[in-house]
Amino acid sequence: MDLSITKAERLKPKPDDTQLGFGNIFTDHMFNMDYSPDKGWHDARIEPYAPLSLDPSTMFLHYGQGAFEGLKAYRTDSGKIQLFRPLDNFRRMNRSCRLLCMPKLDVEAALESLKQLLRLEKDWVPRASETSLYIRPTIFATDPFLGVRASHNYRYFVILSPVGAYYPEGFNPVKIMVTKDHVRAVRGGVGEAKTPGNYAASLLAGEKAHEDGYTQVLWLDGIEQKYIEEVGSMNIFFVINGEVVTPELTGSILPGITRDTVLALTTTWGMPVSERKISINDVFDAHQSGALQEIFGSGTAAVISPVGELRYDDRVVAVGDGKVGPVAQKLFKAIMDIQYGRSEDPKGWIVPVD
Ligand SMILES: *Cc1c(COP(=O)(O)O)cnc(C)c1O
Repeated sequence: MDLSITKAERLKPKPDDTQLGFGNIFTDHMFNMDYSPDKGWHDARIEPYAPLSLDPSTMFLHYGQGAFEGLKAYRTDSGKIQLFRPLDNFRRMNRSCRLLCMPKLDVEAALESLKQLLRLEKDWVPRASETSLYIRPTIFATDPFLGVRASHNYRYFVILSPVGAYYPEGFNPVKIMVTKDHVRAVRGGVGEAKTPGNYAASLLAGEKAHEDGYTQVLWLDGIEQKYIEEVGSMNIFFVINGEVVTPELTGSILPGITRDTVLALTTTWGMPVSERKISINDVFDAHQSGALQEIFGSGTAAVISPVGELRYDDRVVAVGDGKVGPVAQKLFKAIMDIQYGRSEDPKGWIVPVD
């Protein structure tokens, strides 16, 4: 692949690694590439990070034809930089692209260009404990046109943002609200794509949950509003009678890479694991009978997010006595140890950058 590199004339000052938040600081450079029907993907280039100039009629702004990914680069104790299952992110991006009628990327070339960008920006990968460099690949429709159809032209870009530890105050359970009033995605829709509209559609329910003191929304299926789907930007797991249970992928659930990692690790550890339909009533029944041991979310940002309370209408399930359960704890450590190179990588999930 031809890749041109234009370096920034002046580099930004690096932030203090111990004071990082999420998604508010961006590095000196970004990757850009364009798609047109005659040339395909072309003009791959690393350039200074800069605002985009868009025609106000740009199709993406009106009809939301776009997709994104989220992954991280980690610095190991020996100072090396590595990625965790990056090809799975690019493959998922291609599945999102298919659902949104957008052209696919060459996943190997996408990984190669990401590595090049990371090599140039390596000093931006933070060193403080549990910090990382968040990576946001994005594709969007660029035709300047107001008719409703798939765009002919697209832009792909990658930006990088150093992010802090997700749990600066420690690994503590969160409270989540099950919404009855809203649904995130429906059968046959785009729920399994990482596409902007899904997130726009989740905001109102999220604001209502926040007003009531809950950090995230747990979504039920869009048809019967009975079966559990996922949380805001995480997949959800239950430990019931020693079995690790997560909703099966139905088309309206985002197929998380952390979800897949949790399934693979718990299976390797010999735990009973099942992907199946699980209703909100099943959860209340399991709680009532004393079989519900843990609830936790999984996603790239938090890795594992233990849930201490789940509310549905006026019913409340409290799990774990305010403490993190042993399965959530073990997974959190095991996954982070692989990501930061502190333990072996038996499944070939790690891709070195330098
Ligand atoms: C990204 C995302 C997840 C988690 O996916 P990971 O690949 O594990 O980060 C789960 N649900 C939604 C809606 C998401 O956008």
